[in-house]
Amino acid sequence: MDRRSYIGRFAPSPSGDLHLGSLYAAAASYLDARANAGRWLLRLEDLDTAREAPGAASRILATLEAFGFEWDGEVARQSSRLDLYRGTLEDLRRRDLLFECSCSRLELADEGRYPGQCRHGPVHPERPTATRLRVEPRSITIVDEVQGRYRQNVSAASGDIILRRRDGIFSYVFAVVVDDAAQGVTHVVRGADLLDNTPPQIYLQNALGVPTPAYAHVPVLTEPDGTKLAKSRRSVRADAGCALTQLCAIFELLNLAPPASLRDGGIDNAWAWAVRHWKLSALPRRLTLPAGL
Ligand code: GLU
Repeated sequence: MDRRSYIGRFAPSPSGDLHLGSLYAAAASYLDARANAGRWLLRLEDLDTAREAPGAASRILATLEAFGFEWDGEVARQSSRLDLYRGTLEDLRRRDLLFECSCSRLELADEGRYPGQCRHGPVHPERPTATRLRVEPRSITIVDEVQGRYRQNVSAASGDIILRRRDGIFSYVFAVVVDDAAQGVTHVVRGADLLDNTPPQIYLQNALGVPTPAYAHVPVLTEPDGTKLAKSRRSVRADAGCALTQLCAIFELLNLAPPASLRDGGIDNAWAWAVRHWKLSALPRRLTLPAGL
């Protein structure tokens, strides 16, 4: 890959404020882009308005700024890209790759994967329907830059992929794939909670005929006992008042070994140091990382 053509991105959902776990993934993505002389885009994944926390979008931007992240270009908002999603969905429909599904979440609750009961027409045509991509049995292998080889047969794991939900909202998988392709993203560095969602994304990329970016899934930070980081805990809240101290803690968790003197300089100096020392391969090959923050 030509280093100059690297395009990375951070794509938070405004369902809550950023905490140190989200900043850890953001920092990995940012450092990898800058160390490769790449561009770094910021995209707000704000399609699911019901899950949006009031004011979270602007607080996310303010936190990123306070921590010294500098994104390239305008912030992209998925809510203003609906025409692109609609057009892409209709292209797939014309190619006869989609079907409408009337099954409710409750009806499918006991199924490990979608069994395909609406493939030949919605079982309950009177209901609102979701739009699914027909998935044929095929194994997809990723060579993840942190987690290594990961293989999944999407058809066996989850089945036909929902592109538009029954409430009319475009799904995360659909919007993320359309946007990564439209924005020319070449490298996705994000939390390992999305590793098992990546094969469906690649399946959809293949159906759309768009390139597959390189993937690096960084460990998800947890409490020292392995439980999810509780956003309510003061110590894991991103605090603009001590951004440099928290940033150095994040660098440590990224195995960068920041010298104590880094805390005496400014944020820009700390980032410049981290870019110079960045090594994606130094990240632990694990899905979660207990962190005494
Ligand atoms: N919006 C997703 C989230 O906040 C991340 C999407 C991605 O990085 O692919 O979990």
